[in-house]
Amino acid sequence: EGGSASDKTYIIATDTTFAPFEFTNDKNEFVGIDVDILAAIAKDQGFKYELQSLGFDAAVAALESGQADGTIAGMSITEERQKKYDFSEAYYDSYVCMAVKKGSSIKGYEDLKGKKVAAKTGTQGADCAESLKDKYGFDITYFDDSATMYQDVKTGNTVACFEDQPVMAYGVSQGNGLEIVTEEKDNFSTPYGFAVLKGQNADLLKMFNEGLKNIKANGTYDEIVAKYTSAK
Ligand code: GLN
Repeated sequence: EGGSASDKTYIIATDTTFAPFEFTNDKNEFVGIDVDILAAIAKDQGFKYELQSLGFDAAVAALESGQADGTIAGMSITEERQKKYDFSEAYYDSYVCMAVKKGSSIKGYEDLKGKKVAAKTGTQGADCAESLKDKYGFDITYFDDSATMYQDVKTGNTVACFEDQPVMAYGVSQGNGLEIVTEEKDNFSTPYGFAVLKGQNADLLKMFNEGLKNIKANGTYDEIVAKYTSAK
């Protein structure tokens, strides 16, 4: 039965703990830049959606299997992914960094020989770690979510983790007990986009792009970013 686009509730998949893009705040509300821009865009464009907080790798898998119509999860627009997904216009710049426990003697890749580092499955951070692994002689332990990954570095099982810089910088500013020691601005600099499966949900992608343009023009986008990133 051919309902109009506005009857449909789109399933949108996201990460679990990826502040300031998506996370549960101290009032137990699921919030963040991704969460708020999606809400503002849906309101602007008049579509309904259900946001499912699955974890990054699981969100991408849900998109791939058709269980989700779209993904917004601080997802980097990479050439590799563009073979499988259609991305919106970029909405946030990012790059990968390496962080260690605050005060650690690990200052850079040269210090990683024979050690274990942490990465999140399926992410650009993991790709970055994999690209350096053989040259610097370290092993990688994989995690499904950022919070557990940071905890592992603090506990000392792993000596460093690879994470998106805006996320790590936010975490450090909130006192997560880590510090950034290297930045990969050249090789792993990739902006975030909203993704749909290639050739699917073109209507949703179009609405996302239209809505993004509108919330940028009317100041909503800047307000949302400022709300989560301005120093408190
Ligand atoms: N931006 C990174 C990527 O797309 C990480 C995303 C995330 O962990 N939510 O691979």
